[in-house]
Amino acid sequence: MSQFNYKNHRLTIENIPVIKVIKKSETPFYLYSKKQILENLKNFRKTFFQSKPLVCFSVKSNSNLSILKVLKEQQCGADVVSAGELLKVLKAGIKPNKIVFSGVGKSETELILAIKKNILLINVESENEAKLINKISKKMKKKTSIGVRLNPDIDAKTHRKISTGKAQDKFGVSINDLIHLSKNLNKYKNLKLDAISVHIGSQILSENPFRKTLKVLGKIIQSLNLHLKFVDLGGGFGISYEKKEKKINLKNYAKAVNKFKKKFNCNIIFEPGRAILGNAGILVSKIQYLKKGKNKIFAILDAGMNDFMRPALYNASHNIFPLVKNSNRNKYSVEFVGPICETTCKFIKYKNYQKLLENDYVAIMNVGAYGSTLSSNYNIKPLAAEIIIDKKKIKIIRKKQSLLKLVNI
Ligand code: PLP
Repeated sequence: MSQFNYKNHRLTIENIPVIKVIKKSETPFYLYSKKQILENLKNFRKTFFQSKPLVCFSVKSNSNLSILKVLKEQQCGADVVSAGELLKVLKAGIKPNKIVFSGVGKSETELILAIKKNILLINVESENEAKLINKISKKMKKKTSIGVRLNPDIDAKTHRKISTGKAQDKFGVSINDLIHLSKNLNKYKNLKLDAISVHIGSQILSENPFRKTLKVLGKIIQSLNLHLKFVDLGGGFGISYEKKEKKINLKNYAKAVNKFKKKFNCNIIFEPGRAILGNAGILVSKIQYLKKGKNKIFAILDAGMNDFMRPALYNASHNIFPLVKNSNRNKYSVEFVGPICETTCKFIKYKNYQKLLENDYVAIMNVGAYGSTLSSNYNIKPLAAEIIIDKKKIKIIRKKQSLLKLVNI
């Protein structure tokens, strides 16, 4: 059930009118529902309850410290892709033995930190990375647990800019390279091959690519006779941003994962991000100006691509809803745009949107994942505040960045 609904024409979050939150912070600001986050996590775990996976939340999708603490309280682990993310999840209290480190270009300094901290797995993406980990581990007199990220060459049927599992993508190692690496492994005395990992892309809306990937994994594990502690199946589970995007049904995949786990006697790891946070956040923004364009009105928001990058980066479509609904329609189409000096600083266009006024407030929907984490100081704009609703309380979990501090950098 969504925690964002209209009641008496007002958009509400956990039954609190969003318009009430405006008093707490200048717009634009991110606004999250804790209840929604917990519900999403519960549903995810319910889907895969048979295989009892370790859920390593993908921190790149949302790295707010308070949100990481919420997930830690729910016994989540973390999937990190940088030293910064690693340090942050440790600060949130997530134990090293629940942290996996992914990423195609980890630096030596980042690897040293990860090895020092004894994290669960470093998922390597090339033999040269494995060599470097071996060298560092030898110096530290340690044996480091690694996973190897396989690129299964499977089309995830998602946006080409968020596909990661095809041969032409930079991620992971090919099947042949995995075979080569696993046969060579005895050369690397300070490594333990504990896992194979995959992550074929994001916003995947069909279970077929996941099932195909599992088959490929099964074949390789069998043919190499690998005995792995873990198989890390990554993230990528899509959400419905638009009505036409049907919710992904993972029933058969979940059954297949359980069978796989039993057959290979391994623990399962997942790295979901979007599925946990995506629909749990909105970006609240004010209409600063209405400007007449050719056959349309530009609604110029105070939120821009600096605050929310997905439309500019991936042509992502996010609905924009008014905080107060009225049935009075515009004759013109309306295009919601931001203030940044870039043509791509625009969000979405509607035919016949309700009549708008300057200083009206709107919400960009489903921005809980890859929203605040992708924001920047472009055009020297401060980072927006982040607020969470927690048991009817409105809590500021990141203050709006100070412009004065920003101009001194
Ligand atoms: N794991 C890895 C290695 C990723 O690169 C990503 C994001 O692309 C994720 C997990 C999380 O993906 P999603 O948010 O689609 O679940």
